[in-house]
Amino acid sequence: MTDEREARRAWFEQTCVELHQRFGPLDAGEPASYIPELADVDPDRFAIAAMTIQGERIGVGDVDHEFTIQSISKLLMYGLALETHGRERVLEHVGVAPTGEAFNAIELDDETNRAPNPMVNAGAIAITDLVVGADVGERVEQVRSMYERYLGRKPTIDHDVWASERQTGNRNRAIAYLMLSRGIVEDRVEETLDLYFAQCSVLVTADDLALIGATIANHGISPLTGERVVAREVTRDMLTVALTCGMYDYAGEWAFSVGIPAKSGVGGGILAMLPGVGGMATFSPRLDDIGNSVRGLRVFEELSQRFDMHLFDPDRPWRR
Ligand code: GLN
Repeated sequence: MTDEREARRAWFEQTCVELHQRFGPLDAGEPASYIPELADVDPDRFAIAAMTIQGERIGVGDVDHEFTIQSISKLLMYGLALETHGRERVLEHVGVAPTGEAFNAIELDDETNRAPNPMVNAGAIAITDLVVGADVGERVEQVRSMYERYLGRKPTIDHDVWASERQTGNRNRAIAYLMLSRGIVEDRVEETLDLYFAQCSVLVTADDLALIGATIANHGISPLTGERVVAREVTRDMLTVALTCGMYDYAGEWAFSVGIPAKSGVGGGILAMLPGVGGMATFSPRLDDIGNSVRGLRVFEELSQRFDMHLFDPDRPWRR
């Protein structure tokens, strides 16, 4: 590493330590409460992690603590669908328009008869429906092996969360059956929902999310294994919808203030990507009313400002 690079790394690491100390005491927001497994997590867990496309890691706090990936899975599944079916076919089912509605809104685009975008539940369920396989076993295998490529290890599912999601997921069921009635998804709704609940229940750490982010920021090659995880051209589309729709109905404010592609989940994770540079992640289960991690938002606002990360910042020093 050159001296300049080393100095920048040290500065970034120090800043992460400082922000972890500063926002650790911030106790605004509550963990998601729609299932007991999420309501019962320790609300004060807090981690900040980053990984460059060269594979250098930074981590502060509970970077090895596992939590469920939840909606961050939507981004990875979108990549899988694009890679399997191509853009045109995917766009027939799911558009790319931000909604300004809650992630679980029961809303479809009536004119085009599609789910609005892949980052809200309707679109995500339609994307999960596109997972190929003769039976549920084969479809689960597709998703499992996708996770394995990103994580560099076999994924673990939190079975209690999975069971609870299944038991309480009637709103998602309503969305899926509405899409079935409109011909947006195939007639295997319960199976697809089960797969959707499973993809949300995969356990990850902040370190894992930073690796996933670094892989996408590296246009699909894992800095950990050196292997291609997702097609190069697909990462462009993943990054675009992450920027426009990744933070629920906070996406506009996020794009304005932070300005890099990101995806959050109600498990408390936020995954952010700086294309060509690396991935960053925060974990803190205290959520705001929209469903984004309160401490995570503060950390990324600060990091973006201090390091001029915003993609349209004229002084952005990070481009290659
Ligand atoms: N499993 C949750 C759901 O489908 C995921 C939501 C989320 O992270 N926003 O409602």
